[in-house]
Amino acid sequence: MTRIFSGIKPTGHLTLGNYLGAIRGWAEVDQYRAESVFSVVDLHALTVDHDPARVRRLSRQAATLLLAAGIDPERSVLFVQSHVDEHARLSYLLECVASDGEMRRMIQYKEKSVVEQARGGSVRLSLLTYPVLMAADILAYGADEVPVGDDQTQHVELTRDLAVRFNQRYGHTFVVPRATRPEVGARVMDLQDPTSKMGKSHESGAGIVYLLDDADVVRKKIMRAVTDSGSEVVFDREGRPGVSNLLEILAACEGGSPEGLSGAYESYGALKKDVAEAVVELLRPVRERHKALVADSGYVEGVLRGGAERARGMARPTVDAAYRAIGLLPAV
Ligand code: ATP
Ligand code: MG
Repeated sequence: MTRIFSGIKPTGHLTLGNYLGAIRGWAEVDQYRAESVFSVVDLHALTVDHDPARVRRLSRQAATLLLAAGIDPERSVLFVQSHVDEHARLSYLLECVASDGEMRRMIQYKEKSVVEQARGGSVRLSLLTYPVLMAADILAYGADEVPVGDDQTQHVELTRDLAVRFNQRYGHTFVVPRATRPEVGARVMDLQDPTSKMGKSHESGAGIVYLLDDADVVRKKIMRAVTDSGSEVVFDREGRPGVSNLLEILAACEGGSPEGLSGAYESYGALKKDVAEAVVELLRPVRERHKALVADSGYVEGVLRGGAERARGMARPTVDAAYRAIGLLPAV
């Protein structure tokens, strides 16, 4: 059976981009067709300036939202990355097959290191090595597929390269995974700056729809979305990024293609209204289930405890095999 792995970082409140690009597919499709492992990858949240109490809070919230989105712990393994030591163990071995140069070529490193410097901080070494830890997350589970949004494809490519290189040097140890992406919604853009990706760690929230925003806040953010000059509703990501983003969000909510939907609208205002209602309806059940789960924190804890146990059992044999293959003396 196909095995999949994917994760989400507790670096901020989860967004519509996270939901459409990743989580919805995990909950509605992936876990029914494959053996699925999903993780709140909290070690990755330490790569940038962070507040410890906030990371803890966001980790619990992310796990709760994944359950609210429909991840079924009977079907899928759901756990917090730092509860399973195998990730960090394997990451070090992969650092020994990765090169400094290939890390520096990662687009996300380039983008995020600039942000950290602009904030006046130093760039943490872990921001540079973060894609290696992500490779360890994936390879430890022998995942065949990694369902992610567009921005993660380069990291999954790196994961493939590291797996192939390790296998060639030290003997077959890892499954070589591939990224999969949703047809629409793989790159939801910021509503206030539609040339950059909607990202949960971005500072200004006006262009970001959070999964836990009230319905009225969602409506307001969408009605105030930046649109393009001209008034015709056409789908053209390059020339009309604002309107195209709205069409893509609508298509992701309601089905159909963004090009097809564009013909149905004569004005930006009418389009925004429909997008707002579609997003509110899309998120309503998630928010309602989230509320119920928050009231039952013992349940979420139990899921994470069981998930970590299952995850350890899955990852351990592969990571132990990698230890042996690379030349480390087994402990007796
Ligand atoms: P950060 O700003 O901290 O990087 P993020 O919003 O990019 O946060 P991640 O935890 O890095 O979220 O990514 C979780 C998943 O959500 C990944 O599969 C990623 O590709 C996907 N994703 C993130 N942002 C978007 C987006 N704007 N559109 C579609 N998918 C997205
Ligand atoms: Mg990201």
